[in-house]
Amino acid sequence: MFLEPSNKGKSKGWIEVICGCMFSGKTEELIRRINRAIIARQRIVIFKPSIDVRYDDVKVVSHNRNSVNSVVVQHPQDMLVLANDADVIAVDEAQFFDEALLEVLAALAYKGKRIIVSGLDMDFEGKPFGVMPQLMAMAEFVTKIQAICVCCGEPASFSFRLNNLKQQILVGEKDEYEPRCRVCFNQGMKEKETAKHSKYKKIELESDF
Ligand code: ZN
Repeated sequence: MFLEPSNKGKSKGWIEVICGCMFSGKTEELIRRINRAIIARQRIVIFKPSIDVRYDDVKVVSHNRNSVNSVVVQHPQDMLVLANDADVIAVDEAQFFDEALLEVLAALAYKGKRIIVSGLDMDFEGKPFGVMPQLMAMAEFVTKIQAICVCCGEPASFSFRLNNLKQQILVGEKDEYEPRCRVCFNQGMKEKETAKHSKYKKIELESDF
């Protein structure tokens, strides 16, 4: 479990990244760290991208419905002003922000602020997602958490999309994704590919979705 480093009372900035697949508990971990900072009476601001509209417009809500208030931002540059008075800056669903996030968070950390970023490290095709790889490289601390594979019960690092839609961004819930291990993820991708090439199966799939 991640515990905050001691800076012997000196204000020193750093970046923490919490990443993993869907249903791995990233947002719960983010909320846990935020709650500890709230108890310590630190000034906190939480940002989320305007694209993530699940459950609530202004709250960071995890799948188990824990929530904390947050500020919805369109552009990472807006964080520079909004985070001016904060000691701790949290960013949820960071994979949805553009590359400007990298410079903004580096600048805030340089100012002595603690940054906690949470996001999906891979998309539905198992490819690195948006700015997450760069953020993981820049961060002092990276926590990668795994879910449990719904097919075999092994640790899962992949978000398997249950439908055949192709766009990278599809904010979803349990009926659209499931966590899978590498083997079961690849198996599922192969099955999708086979289905695509089989006329009979294609009709069957289309009638399902
Ligand atoms: Zn599996």
